[in-house]
Amino acid sequence: TRAGFVAGNWKMYGNLVQNQELLAAIVLGIPSLQNASCAVCVPYPYLAQAQSVLKGTHVAWGGQNISQHHQGAYTGEVSAGMLTDFGCRYVIVGHSERRTLYGEDNQMVAEKFHSAQEQSLVPILCVGETLAQREANETEQVIARQLDAVIGLVGVNAIKQSVIAYEPVWAIGTGETATPQQAQDVHAFVRNRIAAHNSEIAADIQIVYGGSVKANNASELFAMPDIDGGLIGGASLVAAEFISICFAAQ
Ligand code: 13P
Repeated sequence: TRAGFVAGNWKMYGNLVQNQELLAAIVLGIPSLQNASCAVCVPYPYLAQAQSVLKGTHVAWGGQNISQHHQGAYTGEVSAGMLTDFGCRYVIVGHSERRTLYGEDNQMVAEKFHSAQEQSLVPILCVGETLAQREANETEQVIARQLDAVIGLVGVNAIKQSVIAYEPVWAIGTGETATPQQAQDVHAFVRNRIAAHNSEIAADIQIVYGGSVKANNASELFAMPDIDGGLIGGASLVAAEFISICFAAQ
């Protein structure tokens, strides 16, 4: 069966002192995981700190965004290669906050995905519908477009070395989690859409759920057949919460 995966998305939270405490507690709390792995995606300035605390532990680390470009006159941007310089294994691409607040479209997200893989980073590709789109019955269409843009650019074989995160926008930071069945339905849709290209890749790929996952709802979500773990925002900033969510993905 597929291994579980949990990643923390710290978003724009933290400072050197708090991070040290949080990272140390996570390392202590997760000496090992059975058939699962975990990571934290931290703000750029703290990558060196994450690397120094997490190196040689069972907790991997990564970034929350990258430029689609390799290098150049792109003031304020950070490339995939810069993340690998700091030992990152993962990078989130296409988070809904990037899509809505920073105008990232499906094409740009696909290019970021490609750029990550060129540097051997594992992209965590976020897809998800807004509340208006769900209410208009457009969920599957929206997710299909988000997914197809990436498959169209990199090909289905490249999808194999990635994680897909289904994050319904209406469930992010709202405390309103998708029900396990709502999430399962979309996860199955994503897996089937990949299966239309290649059934083996579809069976193997980790599809994780994000949106108000907490220690007290992780198990029921992760018990669904197509939910392989989670992408965790708020709860990833609390060591005990994050640790317990990681164990729920075993
Ligand atoms: P919350 O867990 O805070 O809802 O955030 C989810 C998310 O956006 C993870 O990327």
